[in-house]
Amino acid sequence: MSNGIQPHRRFKFYIIILVCLILSLPTAGASSMKPYNVEVTSAFVKATAFCSCGSMSYGYHTGTFENYCPRCHSYGTLKFNPKDSPEGEWTCSKCSADYCAASGKEKEPNSPYHLVPYNPPVVQDQEIITTTSNIDSMIADLDKYDQTNLLGVNN
Ligand SMILES: [Zn+2]
Ligand SMILES: [Zn+2]
Repeated sequence: MSNGIQPHRRFKFYIIILVCLILSLPTAGASSMKPYNVEVTSAFVKATAFCSCGSMSYGYHTGTFENYCPRCHSYGTLKFNPKDSPEGEWTCSKCSADYCAASGKEKEPNSPYHLVPYNPPVVQDQEIITTTSNIDSMIADLDKYDQTNLLGVNN
């Protein structure tokens, strides 16, 4: 008799666990809306975050800027401030200026300061140049071969 009741109780227990999991999901989803892809180097800062200054749409944007504060003209002073929300901001550790992590605009009203967009240095592909010159010399070799062959036929 007791054997027949036990599986039923266990099933009820699993249902309760499942309901708890479903109920906790929206909360977990909301707290996971955070800036991500945060990268700080001496040359640049990068993050994917919601725009917090209103200059862009309210959604995720990836901003890559030089690690330079235009307000106090300092390099390497930007620190990421997650703010516990999907928005993020770059804060200068020297003059405490706050910049929107998405657009790079200083969050002071009517501020003319804006982080400098970072463009990684262009690396010339040596491989392609070498390959091209190889093809050129191969064509030159083939031309030589054709000429000698023609000479051979003429003789
Ligand atoms: Zn913004
Ligand atoms: Zn600064």
